[in-house]
Parts: sequence; C-alpha cells; structure tokens
Amino acid sequence: MKSHIAIAIDGPAASGKSTLAGRLSERLNLTMVNSGEMYRAVTWRLLDLRVDVSDASAVVEALGAMDLECGVEGRMSTIKVDGLHPGTELRSEAVNRSVSTVSAVPEVRRRLVELQREYLDFTDVVMEGRDIGSVVFPDTPFKIYIDADADVRAKRRTDVGEVDSVLDRDREDSSRKTAPLMVPDGAARLDTSKHTIESGVLAALEILRGQGLDLEERS
Ligand code: C5P
Repeated sequence: MKSHIAIAIDGPAASGKSTLAGRLSERLNLTMVNSGEMYRAVTWRLLDLRVDVSDASAVVEALGAMDLECGVEGRMSTIKVDGLHPGTELRSEAVNRSVSTVSAVPEVRRRLVELQREYLDFTDVVMEGRDIGSVVFPDTPFKIYIDADADVRAKRRTDVGEVDSVLDRDREDSSRKTAPLMVPDGAARLDTSKHTIESGVLAALEILRGQGLDLEERS
C-alpha cells in the first residue's frame, strides 16, 4: 500500500503559513491541516470552562475530560471540542493571549501531536505549525520554514482587525522547553516579506521539487 506524504510548514505567527499551506493543498491535492487551530480550540474550551490556564495541572485535568474530534471537510482539517465547533472564537483576543501558555504544557502537545499524526492514516497532508518538521513528522523530506519581517507580520494581523501580540507569542513559542519553534533539520527557508502570494507559492513549489516531490504526478 502506498504510504501518505506530509509536507511540513513551520514558522512564526503571521508569517504566511496558512495562506501558503492552503494554496499548496489546492495545487497538490492534499488535505491542509492547521495545527494552530487545534491548540486554539483547546485554549478556547479551557477559557470557556473558566480553567486558570496558567495552572498547568488544572489544564491537564480539564484536558483529560475533553473530547477532541478531528476531521476533514473538503480539503481542510476541522476540530470539534466536546461536540462544539469554536468557529470565529478561535481567533479572539482572549485565545490569542492564552494559546502560547496552553501549548507549552507537554500533555497538551502529546495529545494533539497524536491526533495530527493520525491524519496520515488516511490522507496526504500539508500541515502547518511550529513543530511539524521537528516533532510531528521529523522523517518527512518535505519541510519548509517560512518567515517574514516582524513589522510585516504585525501588520498582517492588524490589517484583518485582529488584536494579536505576535512577537510576544513568538517569544513564548521559541523559548518553551517542549517542542519550541525552530528551523527543523533539513528544512528549506523561505522569507515571504518580499513575495506576493503567487510568487511565494511558486518559490515553495520549487523548494519541494528540490526536496524530491514529483509535482507533475500530483497535478
Ligand atoms: O498558527 P497559529 O498562530 O494559529 O498558532 C497559535 C498558537 O498555537 C501558536 O502561537 C503556538 O503557541 C501554538 N502552536 C504550537 N504548535 C503548533 C502550532 C501552533 O505550539 N504546531
């Protein structure tokens, strides 16, 4: 049986991961998995349950009772928590403020990494996050680390009306003990600051071709 492939896209907040992963999923016929939404969904539910997210043992206890259901709709990953779709709440200011604290808890990561890996049981994926090339799929040959200038990234969030201290999140995500944000071994780097969406996608496709992906076969 042919095994499924994973393309890992990692990078800091607002670097353009989701946009790139979305385009690659269409171009290469892959399921796009937004792993950040999984961490956001858990954070949203914890806040909803009034759990003190700075108390790791309270987070672990609530997580133990949480029902997490991952799926796919069209080409996109979906997540339900305790039967609920968080929807636009995933990008609320409260979630933006707490998600890095929650995602630093090792038990949260263990549970979500397991769910992320399960996607490969049934589909090819382009998965974006912080630790996809380093922890979730370290053996995939297809890895891109994308970045953009800090002012470009901050502007991308304010342009869509979001209140999000991207640099604070990056600091927390890069300095945590478990699975910090880093350039994974074997990843090619792509800076999106000076790219349009289209030219960034073309650059990514060339990187993937260089890493051995057969683009023609996937058309
Ligand atoms: O990608 P996005 O900005 O939506 O991710 C939200 C947060 O989820 C990140 O700031 C990080 O704390 C966490 N995250 C993570 N590992 C991933 C994806 C996201 O820790 N693979």
